[in-house]
Amino acid sequence: MEKGDLFIISAPSGAGKSTLCNRLISMVPNIAFSVSHTTRPPRQGEKNGRDYFFISQEQFTELVAQDAFLEWARVHGHMYGTSRKHVMELLSNGIDVILDIDVQGATQVKAKFPSAVTIFILPPSWDILEERLMKRKSEDRHAIAVRLRNALDEMEEVANYEYTVVNDRLEDALDELISIVTATRCLTPRVLASKVDMAKLRPHPDSWFLT
Ligand code: 5GP
Repeated sequence: MEKGDLFIISAPSGAGKSTLCNRLISMVPNIAFSVSHTTRPPRQGEKNGRDYFFISQEQFTELVAQDAFLEWARVHGHMYGTSRKHVMELLSNGIDVILDIDVQGATQVKAKFPSAVTIFILPPSWDILEERLMKRKSEDRHAIAVRLRNALDEMEEVANYEYTVVNDRLEDALDELISIVTATRCLTPRVLASKVDMAKLRPHPDSWFLT
């Protein structure tokens, strides 16, 4: 059993997933974000190595050939992949990992790690999703239309996820997300494997209680 837990978070573009994940990581100890590789060009303000590793199609193909990805998929016309080495290192150091990946990637990871926890973030309504995508001004109209079209298909998959968080008020959604992480950390097999030394829950051999 890996020492850390894997959390897979999927959402249609514009549901507020990145904000929620960043807030979660800043508030909960011992949890890290897996920085993916992508062939998508960086948006304004995005930093290589922090938001993504921005690479060329050739570099991506080479990494696929080297089996460097735990999963990879084509999303909104670009390639995205999760570094196997990075994730495995974090997990084996006992750090929980958040994978912000699409529904195709989630299926691949869940097949390899059945104990991974799957969480879907939904917007409260279609109108709000559309409004949030328009407001962030990071894509042109065509790219927004592609993302909205894909949102319809992605939201069809929500029933396959273990948890669903509706991101209406950010603070409420964040509370729910933190609760899911906390509850997962309290699952009995996890606690017994990592936190509890059963020997410490027995009386000492010379305890008054045994005499
Ligand atoms: P964006 O371009 O808005 O940053 O991300 C677009 C979509 O790609 C989002 O749904 C995001 O979850 C997904 N994505 C980001 N990184 C990965 C990855 O490594 N693998 C997969 N399968 N999807 C990813």
